[in-house]
Amino acid sequence: MTLTEIAAVETATYDRTVQAGDGALVRVPAGGRLRIVDLHGNQAADTLLFDAADVRNKYSAFDTIREQGAVFLTTGSRLLSTRLDELAVITDDTVGRHDTIGGACAQESNVIRYGEHTRHQHACRQTFLAYGAAAGIGPRELGHNINFFMNVPVSPDGDLHFDDGLSAPGKHVELTAAREILVLVSNCPQLNNPCNGWDPTPVRLLGWWS
Ligand SMILES: [Zn+2]
Repeated sequence: MTLTEIAAVETATYDRTVQAGDGALVRVPAGGRLRIVDLHGNQAADTLLFDAADVRNKYSAFDTIREQGAVFLTTGSRLLSTRLDELAVITDDTVGRHDTIGGACAQESNVIRYGEHTRHQHACRQTFLAYGAAAGIGPRELGHNINFFMNVPVSPDGDLHFDDGLSAPGKHVELTAAREILVLVSNCPQLNNPCNGWDPTPVRLLGWWS
């Protein structure tokens, strides 16, 4: 981190390091800024956003992609809900682009992709359910998520695959809440594809709000 960033970190009102395989549920008031820092690089921070007033009004990858006319997320991307409400805007991004198509890992998808021996590996879906429960977020409220720092190139004919990351140690992405939101993060424990550089590592969440 640069000196300016270290100074900014000292003023943060929220500061939490999330280990690989763990998660967090963060309430961010309107106007609050939440930064996710990729501490060691090449991590995947699977993230869902919800309207704090009604968790059924949740982040919609489909509406976000259609309305911004782009499949990747970066600075300026408006993160929309299923009711087309603006939940947050990406106001800073030192990586360049983030995936919102690849989805989160689950025990079922691990088995299909990597084989039966991976069934009992911890997956993001379990972390989402464990941390979401406190806010009434159950299986029905889980939708297509954002994969911050994850590199999922999409070819012109619509193919996509998981690639080694574009991120690097200390890079970050920052969201500014457009209304009071709940941010549900699963710091991905995936060991079977290069989205975490084969080595899941911690991320740091920093928040500025009063
Ligand atoms: Zn995962």
